Amino acid sequence: MTKIYAVTNQKGGVGKTTTCVNLAASLVATKRKVLLVDMDPQGHATLGSGLSKKDLQLSIYDVLMGDTGIAEARLKTDPGGYDILPANVDLAGAEVNLIDQPRRERKLAEALEVVKKDYDFILIDCPPSLNLLTINALTAARGVLVPVQCEYYALEGLTSLLETLERVAGSVNPGLEVTGILRTMYDPRNSLTRDVSTQLTDYFGQQVLGTVIPRNVRLAEAPSYGMPVISYDAKSKGSLAYLALAGEILRRSS
Ligand code: ADP
Ligand code: MG
Repeated sequence: MTKIYAVTNQKGGVGKTTTCVNLAASLVATKRKVLLVDMDPQGHATLGSGLSKKDLQLSIYDVLMGDTGIAEARLKTDPGGYDILPANVDLAGAEVNLIDQPRRERKLAEALEVVKKDYDFILIDCPPSLNLLTINALTAARGVLVPVQCEYYALEGLTSLLETLERVAGSVNPGLEVTGILRTMYDPRNSLTRDVSTQLTDYFGQQVLGTVIPRNVRLAEAPSYGMPVISYDAKSKGSLAYLALAGEILRRSS
């Protein structure tokens, strides 16, 4: 059965897009078929996958508007090897255009139904806010991955995010579960990072994934070459960490 994960955190810059691109490529490396859905009008997952935002013929915007299907709008990524449903700034208009439509929070879920059978995993990269785009992602998903940067404000934001997820689950998607909290940009030399990490595991227990993503400059460089880190520098710490994450997600999904 296809596993659909929304990668979300209303904070920007915590590693959502980096996790989507690199987890997608790492799952492909384990021979899984993967679709990455770019749900952020900034289109960073699209760019980081080597596509040009301004050359898109069709994008997720057209899919949400019901003007085309995912089968027509998806593109293959190279060298990542996963498919992507790309986004550009058009997507910023989707919310306004959807507002008075029936089942507006189910547009992505309904579009995914048609292509789900083609994939083992579908990852949805969310924007840094809890808007209708994020609600569409949370309605379509079975699980949520929450990247957190281990810094002082991380815990506070996290508690309110998890409360919001429960509310969303209660109203539109009762099966939704938090599959894992992922520590990103981890720097073991920083004592605050270590303290916050300990607090996270004390408080959230098994919900915190065992895999930790280190701060690694190769991860930050790879998107400017339009490729996942596994293609840019396969032996880097960042690459190995995302391969380990893919392994953990495969275990948690089975
Ligand atoms: P978000 O999607 O949550 O806004 P990004 O994935 O775009 O966050 O990451 C924010 C910035 O941090 C980007 O410039 C990205 O390249 C960089 N970054 C993300 N993860 C790491 C990491 N583990 N090590 C170093 N830089 C990282
Ligand atoms: Mg992002």
